[in-house]
Amino acid sequence: TQVYFNGRWVAPEQAQVSVFDRGFLFGDGVYEVIPVFAGRSFGLMEHIDRLGRSLAAIDIREPLERHEWIAIIERLVRDCPSPDVSIYIQVTRGTAPKRDHAYPNPPVAATVLASASPMAALSETIRREGARAITVPDLRWARCDIKSVNLLPNIMARQQAVAAGASEAILVRDGMALEGAASNLFAVIDGALHTAPLGPHILGGITRQKLLEMLRAQGQLAVVESAIPLDRLFDASEVFVTSSTRDLLPITRIDERPVGDGRIGPVWTTLNRDFQQMKTEQVV
Ligand code: PLP
Repeated sequence: TQVYFNGRWVAPEQAQVSVFDRGFLFGDGVYEVIPVFAGRSFGLMEHIDRLGRSLAAIDIREPLERHEWIAIIERLVRDCPSPDVSIYIQVTRGTAPKRDHAYPNPPVAATVLASASPMAALSETIRREGARAITVPDLRWARCDIKSVNLLPNIMARQQAVAAGASEAILVRDGMALEGAASNLFAVIDGALHTAPLGPHILGGITRQKLLEMLRAQGQLAVVESAIPLDRLFDASEVFVTSSTRDLLPITRIDERPVGDGRIGPVWTTLNRDFQQMKTEQVV
């Protein structure tokens, strides 16, 4: 299927950037991933808003208007043969005539890519037994709230997890478990759900936001938005991570230690059921 590239629809192999694109040279760009379930996008407005915030944070003028993003995403969803789709959007500062750290002045046209790929399904083992995670030092910078394409620390952390037979790496800064390499972190401690607060040390996940909205509306489970000390993470009765492409993923082992009794727990089971229900009721 075709991809959207700088105002045109082209075959993926025809979408080519210059070697002088600042995304290629400097990682000078931002991205979004928008999940589509049964042909309907989830949290579309929140994702477009976050893209706007990421662009504003690095002074790239938003290249398209909201209705244009929506039209592009709708076409990608329509053309993708799979009902569950992951939409990828990337915007870089564009191709400047000369390599200079400072932003080109006057600004050049941004490079814009939007593409769709079928959502990968979780393995049967993970769905039955939950996933494994490892803890690693958080090597990232101090603006993790920007969804930047500079993902080297995240990539290295995830690779370490995969090499250890795990699905996610939990990033630890100053003794605090903050989030995953590409997910937000939740732990059930003394019956309350803990997760790191919004701020420069985590990416404000849309799945996290939607889950917290649901919990506030339900008013049953206590939520504590504060970073989780590593030792408390190991005391948690349940741990899960959230992301657009993996939903609520239960973590049943961390660094070879079982979480709680090592099985998928009742809090996750209930929250996941309610969350799936909420997704089907979503209109846009
Ligand atoms: N944290 C990081 C570092 C991420 O890369 C991601 C998503 O890829 C998330 C959290 C989860 O965000 P979302 O729920 O919007 O997918």
